[in-house]
Amino acid sequence: MPPYLGESHASVIGFLQKLKLESFAGTFDPSAIMHYVDEVEEGNTAAKASVDIALHDLWGKMQGKPLYELLGADPNHTPYTSFTIGMDDTAMILQKLEEASDYPLLKVKLGGEHDMQILDTIRSVCSRSLSVDINQGWNDREEALDRIYRMKEMNVSFVEQPFAKNRFNDHAWLKERSPLPVFADESCQRLKDIAACASSFDGINIKLMKCTGLAEAREMIKEARKQGLKILIGCMSESSCAVSAAAALTPFANYADLDGPLLIKNNVFSGVEFIAGKICLPLLPGSGAVLKEPVFGM
Ligand code: MG
Repeated sequence: MPPYLGESHASVIGFLQKLKLESFAGTFDPSAIMHYVDEVEEGNTAAKASVDIALHDLWGKMQGKPLYELLGADPNHTPYTSFTIGMDDTAMILQKLEEASDYPLLKVKLGGEHDMQILDTIRSVCSRSLSVDINQGWNDREEALDRIYRMKEMNVSFVEQPFAKNRFNDHAWLKERSPLPVFADESCQRLKDIAACASSFDGINIKLMKCTGLAEAREMIKEARKQGLKILIGCMSESSCAVSAAAALTPFANYADLDGPLLIKNNVFSGVEFIAGKICLPLLPGSGAVLKEPVFGM
């Protein structure tokens, strides 16, 4: 559990122990169950997402159908995932580009003094499609706009979360002038945040761990479409368990950033695959995530 998100193993176990799901035994509607789960206690969004993903996996297994089919998603319409290049020195960035040579879309983490030098370095060796994630790292809006114009010249496709999450006015100012689409990540956690994002951003990054899972993510996709927002399906540091569930939503999205399982060493699940970056949804009933070998006494 990433510590900066405020959830821990202990908080997740504590939350799960508070749930009383017996009364739902007769009916099986993941969305209805998730309404109850969300009311039990505030926060705990990753813990709630774990319940949501288990419910959707079970739903698919009961119906004998892959999750994407139950969600009405066309498995032939999946996007490519981007592959993250973290902030680093030049030598490390070049090495990471080499390691990511199979992936045609890169997402570059920026938000500092050397942003343009990092992009110059990347562009000196590769012409692959790039998006950039500023992670709330910029302060000055005129400078932000200037950088985005230069990024447009460098063939960057979009910019994620330039300013601090509560600076909606500055994001709105930038949206009006930016030659590239501006996406909200930290500014858009859940369904209720979309209204404020619609006037300040061109798109939103939906992550199951922020929004409590697939039930709410589906609502967010509907609402974002209604508001004319582009959709990116993203993830945290996650195994193929959570990312296989998120991947089932990607046929509804403009972009996907689901490289979580590629960036961790302890992925105990198989599931969604990336063939030269293209998202390939598992055909198994449910989410398609399968434990590779028994762990934790399971
Ligand atoms: Mg982000």
